[in-house]
Amino acid sequence: MWSLVYAAANHMHGLAVIAAVSPLFEEWLERRHGVLTYRLTQVLTGHGSFGRFLFRIRREETPGCRHCVDHPEDTVEHTVAVCPAWAEHRRVLRDVIGDGDLSRPALVQAMVRSEREWDAVSSFCEAVMLAKEEAERVRERSSSRPSRRRRHSGRRGSRDDLRPP
Ligand SMILES: [Zn+2]
Repeated sequence: MWSLVYAAANHMHGLAVIAAVSPLFEEWLERRHGVLTYRLTQVLTGHGSFGRFLFRIRREETPGCRHCVDHPEDTVEHTVAVCPAWAEHRRVLRDVIGDGDLSRPALVQAMVRSEREWDAVSSFCEAVMLAKEEAERVRERSSSRPSRRRRHSGRRGSRDDLRPP
């Protein structure tokens, strides 16, 4: 049963990646650099630690951003381009890829353009998504499950749910 769910989820991730890179599909396939990591995939597909996605799969009660005071909807675009919590990471990213827009097509364009830009986007995704996953884990531990059973049981558990097998 679970393997079927995972297979379906992987298939969905695959389709979502193709949708994200489709305007530059040839360049994407012909590039000679760049590894598509788990956290890069989260950002390109939106399937990951984003309020909107977590709300959709019923892991969160609202789609709002947990890192902003006024809780706007936490989408990929919000996380990458807007959320003040990631301003420093964004500045580092912009130093490499420039001042253009930070939409997903623009990120893909930068990624296929050069290895340096691919690595900058990848580092941004690693740092920001890791921080978001950590925050999500802390929230889960402290709010929705008031019992203490998880507190001493190490780090296994829900964070692996979104990971491919
Ligand atoms: Zn935010």
